[in-house]
Amino acid sequence: MKKKVALLPGDGIGPEVCREAVKVLDKIADKYGHEFIFEEKKVGGAAIDEFGEPLPNDTLETCQNSDAILFGSVGGPKWDNLAPEKRPEVGSLLPLRKKFDLFVNLRPARLFPNLESTSPLKDKIIEGGFDFVVLRELTGGIYFGKKGKEEGRAFDEMKYERHEVERITRVAFEAAKKRKGKVTNVDKSNVLLTSVFWREVVNEVHQAEYSDVELEHLYIDNATMQILVRPKDFDVILTSNMFGDILSDEAAQISGSLGNLPSASLNESNFGLFEPAGGSAPDIAGKDMANPIAQILSASMMLKYSFSMDKESEDIDQAIKKSLESGFRTGDIFSGKEGEKKVGTQEMGKIILENI
Ligand code: NAD
Repeated sequence: MKKKVALLPGDGIGPEVCREAVKVLDKIADKYGHEFIFEEKKVGGAAIDEFGEPLPNDTLETCQNSDAILFGSVGGPKWDNLAPEKRPEVGSLLPLRKKFDLFVNLRPARLFPNLESTSPLKDKIIEGGFDFVVLRELTGGIYFGKKGKEEGRAFDEMKYERHEVERITRVAFEAAKKRKGKVTNVDKSNVLLTSVFWREVVNEVHQAEYSDVELEHLYIDNATMQILVRPKDFDVILTSNMFGDILSDEAAQISGSLGNLPSASLNESNFGLFEPAGGSAPDIAGKDMANPIAQILSASMMLKYSFSMDKESEDIDQAIKKSLESGFRTGDIFSGKEGEKKVGTQEMGKIILENI
């Protein structure tokens, strides 16, 4: 298969970790007979410095002409004093999400075996690791409803249309089919009518199209607790914009380092933007200290969700697992335990590459 990838490394650690991800993708292309054509463009602060804006037309056009976007991270203290809409994050990521109608936000919560000490949860709960994804509806719900604030009152309207719930529900079931075959729908249907409607639509789509996938329902308040006591039981958590905002941060926290966590934002035709869950980490940028795993896993998600290359994606995930099992750790996941070996960004990339 031949695929065009818009490569937007951005700022801070972005270029360092993207370099390692590209090497991994090149190796996958060699091994499986694919061709990935990378077109590298500036975004964020790097684009402001060169072109005076965070998302130049040239960068946007490259994205439009590509099959997926592999994004590093943007921002840093140098651009913190700009007006909000001109800043790297708001001025590049939000327009990209809007332009490509990226209504699905997929954030894996994954704790690799042997990395239990990086999670705040008790050993007996997380022994052997866990692996689930939070699938958040990203372009509807309370964040986009009518809002008002006047003397003595304020309101935010929450509204979901049938087609909005149907399309995110289908993505959840499709994702579950590629994973462990289970969807947990999270809502507040004991109180909110939008949730009652949401749950009805989820059930309808399940019965009509995906009855082979297991479906359970949880209320949001209960879900926040269940994630802490039985994280291994989850596979795909389907939820609305606001609940997803909260759950995905909870899931990131129990997964240990941000350096291990990728994310994907997708639209209806599986076009996507793939980026680490963390930011540009200016404190460690340029020091060969950043963990490249989040970026490499973002590339792996690109193969799985935009290019339907499941086997290739699995190959990358296994190579990462093996590298960690062999004790290699960047600083953010190094605990000093016997058998661990501290390595830099490039060395970690090289080890993962060798394990493919
Ligand atoms: P951050 O995620 O960049 O860093 C938080 C902490 O996590 C830091 O200590 C950092 O060193 C560590 N960290 C993050 N990624 C790591 C990795 N791969 N390996 C090792 N350690 C890692 O968050 P922040 O410091 O709040 O923000 C820094 C800049 O990034 C800000 O300008 C912020 O606006 C921006 N940001 C961008 C994005 C994005 O591009 N999507 C997301 C969040 C923050």
